[in-house]
Amino acid sequence: MRPALLDPLFAPLNSLPGIGPKAGDLYARLLGRESIEDCRVIDLIFHAPHSLIDRRQQPGIALSPQGSIVTITGRVDRHQPPPPGRSNQPYRVFIHDDTGELALTFFRAKGNWLEKALPVNETVIVSGKVDWFNGRPSMVHPDYMVRASEAENLPLVEPVYPLTAGLSARILRKSIEAGLPRLPDFPEWLDEALARQQSFNSVRDCFLALHDPRDATDLDLQAPSRRRLAYDEFLAGQLSLALVRQRLRKVAGIPVKATGALSGPVLAALPFSLTGSQQAAIADVLKDMAGTERMLRLLQGDVGSGKTAVALMTMLAAVEAGGQAVLMAPTEILARQHFATLSKMAAPAGVNIDVLTGRTKGKEREAILDRIVSGETQIVIGTHALFQDTVVYSNLLMAVVDEQHRFGVHQRLRLTAKGISPHMLVMTATPIPRTLVLAAFGDMDVSKLTEKPAGRKPIQTVTVSNERTGEIVDRLRTALSEGKKAYWICPLVEESDVSELMSVDERFAILSAEFGEAVGLVHGRMKGTEKDEVMLAFKKGEIRLLVATTVVEVGVDVPDATIMVIEHAERFGLAQLHQLRGRVGRGSEASTCILLYKGPLSENGRARLSILRETEDGFLIAEEDLKLRGEGELLGTRQSGTPGFRIASLEAHGDLLEIARKDAAYIIERDPDLTSERGEALRTLLYLHRRDEAIRFLRAG
Ligand code: ADP
Ligand code: MG
Repeated sequence: MRPALLDPLFAPLNSLPGIGPKAGDLYARLLGRESIEDCRVIDLIFHAPHSLIDRRQQPGIALSPQGSIVTITGRVDRHQPPPPGRSNQPYRVFIHDDTGELALTFFRAKGNWLEKALPVNETVIVSGKVDWFNGRPSMVHPDYMVRASEAENLPLVEPVYPLTAGLSARILRKSIEAGLPRLPDFPEWLDEALARQQSFNSVRDCFLALHDPRDATDLDLQAPSRRRLAYDEFLAGQLSLALVRQRLRKVAGIPVKATGALSGPVLAALPFSLTGSQQAAIADVLKDMAGTERMLRLLQGDVGSGKTAVALMTMLAAVEAGGQAVLMAPTEILARQHFATLSKMAAPAGVNIDVLTGRTKGKEREAILDRIVSGETQIVIGTHALFQDTVVYSNLLMAVVDEQHRFGVHQRLRLTAKGISPHMLVMTATPIPRTLVLAAFGDMDVSKLTEKPAGRKPIQTVTVSNERTGEIVDRLRTALSEGKKAYWICPLVEESDVSELMSVDERFAILSAEFGEAVGLVHGRMKGTEKDEVMLAFKKGEIRLLVATTVVEVGVDVPDATIMVIEHAERFGLAQLHQLRGRVGRGSEASTCILLYKGPLSENGRARLSILRETEDGFLIAEEDLKLRGEGELLGTRQSGTPGFRIASLEAHGDLLEIARKDAAYIIERDPDLTSERGEALRTLLYLHRRDEAIRFLRAG
């Protein structure tokens, strides 16, 4: 049960005054929720300001700088309504102070309202932007107008919040102000020494400070109140992951002893020998599986780094121990592809492999389900259909989840929820920086495939200003005459960019004029069959220079292409450049990648391109990308299971994440059921950050 203390914060957001049905949709959009029904008051309190308006400048009317926000105290002299019948003319109210006269200017204003607000001879305080015109100052629609006796109603410093179209800043601020008094005095869940060392105030004070910045330093991500809230967010995340993990681990793993009886012959029949990092990863996995604790391991490796072989070798260990293994792919097509590859690779061992997807129907499905329950099937490959209730395993010892580019923990949790507890290996091709792994998976064990399979030559990467495109074309002429093959990639051009960027069509026309028939074109707007034809011609060598958009980013395999030119490289993300570059360097010939950029480059832009020049290590590139761009952009649009932090930033608060991880481990060790006084407070923290699913684990355990 959520502590009653939090009830006022978890009341529906529209219980705050002024949030009606129309504004409701806007708030839901602002807070990233489905509908207003999902929004709680606490969500608004987590909505942090990004800047502030400073109204402390009070220079006097005559000394007010053009265009700046000032606060003026003056006496109202006279009202000047628009002439009758000229309601499009402004209504003016003149006030003066010791230095001069100011015209307060209103369009389509109601006269009696203004007479009430600004009575003649009254001393008033107004605040807003001053504009000078013909030597006279005016203030159009002041942000604030109060009588001098009510000065306290005029905030001299105001937070400014991220908005969404249609929602007014003033209304948003009002509803946040209405929400803040609902903050209770929270029990303290921080370790005392840490709070002292970091100068952390109470949570309530930190929330209040978040919404009451006094100057720019308070808005800094390193401001103490922001750091405390970020720490809380990390701690809630790490603690909930640790609780889930503790629960998973409580279900003891069944020790699996690999004998090599099956993997031996398979290994001997492989047309290649395993790379050092493949061997190391297999050793990591086998060691985990041999223990009594359940394995939970993440295998990271670039596309083409050979994760499938690692999966097979370790699944064979489960079969050698008399059990079953499953491999789950994200899509039907990938599942069937895996089935074809693995059946061939595993043939020398004579193991029984089946494939089960949503498309497997009728008699065939029945037969496969029978074979799985009897234990005849030793390895099953499929989609999430593998974990439907109708599938009953005879002795499932290991599960491999091939997440490809997805990155989520949901499937993993679902598996456990079903009461199955096999050793678990999650494979991903997205090079995920350590900090993100930590944030999303907690303290998960990680193996990396950092080596490329043997025979691949390093790619020489150079950066060249597009003013030297002519030289590159000359070099291409030589290369093509030697029979080499090249890609020329252009960015996708949006309408608004047309004048600035070379489109793929234009580039194709220019290069065709140079090299004639040898040039081909492929882009996303072409039909599938058209694309296939062009690609085939490129493979066969009828086309030797392929002009393309990023459609060639994935899955294209032309091993004898050795030159990659990327135009407007400054436009691409680092990870994408890395993927594109990976299209060459696949054969035995040395390859080159030319990054053409349009100068001048920003400092950041230069740094990004030089990373690619310096390394081919996808992990390093991802880490650097994170540093230079921020995690939000790196992950692209919000993906399921990606950690969405409201206050914390992995870049700015990475040091705190590390402390939170250790803190969570310490807590779980001392107080695994969260029953101590601090434990109780930590439960409140978990609820506050909507990590209740972890508490369910706690109760069930
Ligand atoms: P991914 O990590 O993208 O899943 P795959 O497992 O599909 O990569 O392997 C990519 C290709 O490399 C496959 O054709 C595979 O047979 C081959 N391969 C895997 N390991 C090696 C190796 N050690 N040496 C040479 N080729 C390998
Ligand atoms: Mg793969």
